Amino acid sequence: MPGSAAKSNASATAERPPTLPVRVRDVVIGAGAPVRVQSMTKTRTDDVRATLRQIRRLARAGCELIRLAVPDEAAALALPLIRQRTSLPLVADIHFDHRLALAAIRAGFDKVRINPGNIGGNAKVAEVIRAAKDNNVAIRIGVNSGSIPKDILARYHHPTPEALLAAIDRALAPFEKLNFKNIVLSAKTTSVADLIAVNQAIARTYPYPIHLGLTESGSPFVGGIRSAAALAPLLLQGIGDTIRISLTGDPVLEVLAGYELLAALGLRQTRPLVYSCPGCGRTRVDINRLARAVEKGLKGIRAPIKVAVMGCVVNGPGEAREADFGIACGQGRGALFVKGRVIRSYPENRLVPALLEEIKKHL
Ligand code: SF4
Repeated sequence: MPGSAAKSNASATAERPPTLPVRVRDVVIGAGAPVRVQSMTKTRTDDVRATLRQIRRLARAGCELIRLAVPDEAAALALPLIRQRTSLPLVADIHFDHRLALAAIRAGFDKVRINPGNIGGNAKVAEVIRAAKDNNVAIRIGVNSGSIPKDILARYHHPTPEALLAAIDRALAPFEKLNFKNIVLSAKTTSVADLIAVNQAIARTYPYPIHLGLTESGSPFVGGIRSAAALAPLLLQGIGDTIRISLTGDPVLEVLAGYELLAALGLRQTRPLVYSCPGCGRTRVDINRLARAVEKGLKGIRAPIKVAVMGCVVNGPGEAREADFGIACGQGRGALFVKGRVIRSYPENRLVPALLEEIKKHL
């Protein structure tokens, strides 16, 4: 029954010991390194200009590994040029044709993602493994609930966590035979409970780093919520060494959502966290406008600070005091807090500029 393993594995909450390290260009995955945030370009690689433009936007947002889909020969032909034009860690996403993986390795890509179940048999997988070994390229073995080998699916009837684990186990065999350990594992499904269960099982069974992502999670709002629901319990158990929040839409949002999730869990904060109250019948300022203005003003700042934007005197002063910087509002004006102390009070229209100025001064 789908999801049943989630219950049986729910008690397996001990922190995962460090995994084997996997190096992708200058980025280490696993072995106690920070959880890496990755995304995918959504262009065809043979549109080199558009692809590079998207790579640069992702890099500016802090994306640490950028995956590109390579669906055919035309897409593969563009890889050397893309490789030349960026120094970021690049991952080629390959299905069905192992020659595309070989082309990506020849082009100087740092990692390939393959699903050994659909690449045409163990001899072809072995060819890719040998090329990766010779070129110090990492491989992500990615199995997906939508492409589990037929005989495994027949045995389990549904793409259950057990079926995904069996697919991973089979996929790993040629890698272990060739003593190839530069591996990241991933098992993706659209079910939150199954994703948690299968990744707990992978973490218990194998020493390799794990890439986490809820597949086909949806548009930014629902996809962000579903992904957070799936990834948070795992990350809090120390499971997950790289993440992608797959969202329909602009890939930059995937990166921002990834960092926001890691920061919310206290795992990795690279930029300001804004805590704003929702506003209620007590609010006597435009709290929505103030919060948005603060978020906008902090864009581009890379400092792990906490900023509180509070609408009234009930919880406002307490929260603002606990944050590094904050504002607590009253009737058309508010107090500015820095490191727990009130600096001054300002009228509503001058609060945000004063807050931002104070933050920039301290940074
Ligand atoms: Fe309402 Fe004040 Fe709470 Fe904001 S902080 S939601 S204004 S009670």
